[in-house]
Amino acid sequence: MSNPSLLILPGDGIGPEVMAEVTRIIDWFGAKRGIAFDVSEDLVGGCAYDKHGTPLHDDTMAKALEVDAVLLGAVGGPKYDKLDFSVKPERGLLRLRKEMDLFSNLRPAQCFDALADFSSLKKDVVAGLDIMIVRELTSGVYFGEPRGIFKEGNERVGINTQRYTESEIARVARSAFELARKRNNKLCSMEKANVMESGILWRDVVTEVHEAEYSDVELTHMYADAGAMQLTRWPKQFDVIVTDNLFGDMLSDLAAMLTGSLGMLPSASLGAPTENGRPKALYEPVHGSAPDIAGQGKANPIACILSFAMALRYSFDMGDEATRVEKAVEAVLADGKRTADLLGEEGVTPVSTSEMGDAILAAL
Ligand code: ATP
Ligand code: MG
Repeated sequence: MSNPSLLILPGDGIGPEVMAEVTRIIDWFGAKRGIAFDVSEDLVGGCAYDKHGTPLHDDTMAKALEVDAVLLGAVGGPKYDKLDFSVKPERGLLRLRKEMDLFSNLRPAQCFDALADFSSLKKDVVAGLDIMIVRELTSGVYFGEPRGIFKEGNERVGINTQRYTESEIARVARSAFELARKRNNKLCSMEKANVMESGILWRDVVTEVHEAEYSDVELTHMYADAGAMQLTRWPKQFDVIVTDNLFGDMLSDLAAMLTGSLGMLPSASLGAPTENGRPKALYEPVHGSAPDIAGQGKANPIACILSFAMALRYSFDMGDEATRVEKAVEAVLADGKRTADLLGEEGVTPVSTSEMGDAILAAL
């Protein structure tokens, strides 16, 4: 059998800096665990534009479609702000998402005990929190037609359309049920079936998929507004949440920030299962290229490292190895190591990106 394959796209800004620490962990897996990955590296974003005049070369796109998983750092930066929209760095990422058809966006909100003080909520509300929001990523109100600003009589009217087909709902529901099975067998679906037709259909289809294929998973439904309230009141009541593109955008940001810094948050975007049963997948930190700190060795590599841990779990069926990485991160934080973004004003001296990497490798 061939090795699991991984395409690494470090991108711009702090992307290459945080990705360098992931590469060390991948090497560690080869050397110490006998788990070798076929890793190839390529350009995306501004650096690809500099070399090829496009933020994503066709060859890179083709590679992304071949490998088991893509791991991306970040794209963009002030140098590229004036570029034409068609070649902006972000377009590279959008093209990847679109051509890989990544319709299911997984955003975990996990609170490491050592960082529980960081939350704006009470410590006992967030300590030990570990939930996952699954956001539908390729349809809904962001894409529905008609859309636009139209003239109606003597005033303008802005129109967007929330539109979901049964198959679009069913495929993201399946992706969430699969995830629930890998976790604690519990799924909460959120919509607004009380006021939206698409919400009524959403609830129907999720219920049908549940009855036909996943009746072993405990399923509940909640209106998304009530969900937002419950997420801030007592988030630990949830395990996996599945919701549409718009509600998912808001609820995943809300949930993520229950736990602290942008430098800590990983994500996965998954597509349809391929022949080997695993989905097409792209993993990336939630944060951007952070031009304000790029090149200074200050970036927190944990979000990118945890994104690799998600790849281990969801693309390579290596849940135990993923847990090993997460535990190493947890141990290093418990030991008091902090990059600058995880610190208040005074007291502890921050560690650099590579020192954080050193500590995580040592903990592994
Ligand atoms: P994008 O548009 O690409 O999402 P953004 O403008 O939303 O980017 P980020 O690039 O994510 O923002 O940066 C937001 C702030 O968070 C910046 O001050 C940045 O320095 C900080 N930040 C982001 N990621 C990290 C990280 N890994 N470590 C430390 N600080 C970070
Ligand atoms: Mg942003």
